[in-house]
Amino acid sequence: MTLNNTKKFAVFTIDAEAFSDTGCVRESGYNCEHDMLDGLDNYIELLDKYGIKATLFTVCHTAETVKDKLKSYAARGHRIALHGLDHTAPLKLSNEQFREELIAARDKLESDLGIRIEGYRAPFFSMDNEKLEILRELGFRYDSSRLDLVKNHNGGVINVNGFRRIASGVFRSKGFYEFGLSSQKLFNFDYPVSGGGYLRLGNWGFTKELLRRYLVNNDYYIFYLHPFEFSDIKVPKIKNLKPHDKYYLNYGVSAFRKKVESIILMLKKLGYEFITFDEYIELKEKERENNK
Ligand SMILES: [Zn+2]
Repeated sequence: MTLNNTKKFAVFTIDAEAFSDTGCVRESGYNCEHDMLDGLDNYIELLDKYGIKATLFTVCHTAETVKDKLKSYAARGHRIALHGLDHTAPLKLSNEQFREELIAARDKLESDLGIRIEGYRAPFFSMDNEKLEILRELGFRYDSSRLDLVKNHNGGVINVNGFRRIASGVFRSKGFYEFGLSSQKLFNFDYPVSGGGYLRLGNWGFTKELLRRYLVNNDYYIFYLHPFEFSDIKVPKIKNLKPHDKYYLNYGVSAFRKKVESIILMLKKLGYEFITFDEYIELKEKERENNK
């Protein structure tokens, strides 16, 4: 891979969590008999078709149930990172609790899978700078929880003052990287174009055009989704759900795979290179060395 500042990069990720860990499902108290983790296989199968290596932000408790699956993905070059011990929002924890959970989750995941864990994404993107500092102190190399551009989201806020901007949404400070999720401005609103519900639920003609605009004008893109959005199992009927949660869980799931494939093809057409966070960090660190 050659170093070139004009290169554009895309990272494909998934938050590897059970269906029951979805915020509204958890709150409803619904006891889901299926975790919908077959969505992981379907996602990896699609990415393998295009030679893309995924990063799986994995909930430690979820990993227990799909250990062999995760090991086989890792053996094929996909990367495993951490998405919390049990999918509790970090901002609901004290800093000390967060530190203890991180250590326990990382140790368990590393010993279960026999690999090093160096990256983190906060459940519900619930993150702030103090907790980011804890990640850095514990030797994590990167975080991917920044959603600052997205107003009205219940996640936390990561302030990147003191970080150096490396690319669109990518920041570095003292060797630690923050990979933010992408948004495209539309009038006064920053519309998220990195995946999850926004790309699945939005009118495709509209979101595709927003995404195209983002990709033409930027040099870095992150995509993410959840296993249930790629599962072959029909989302169960859950009582006590608010109408917008019902909509979130059901709408557009069956058509989503086609959309994701269109996004991959769009990225290829626009000259994006698929990369993992680790590879990206290595490239940038080498570039720094060479420029010294
Ligand atoms: Zn999550």
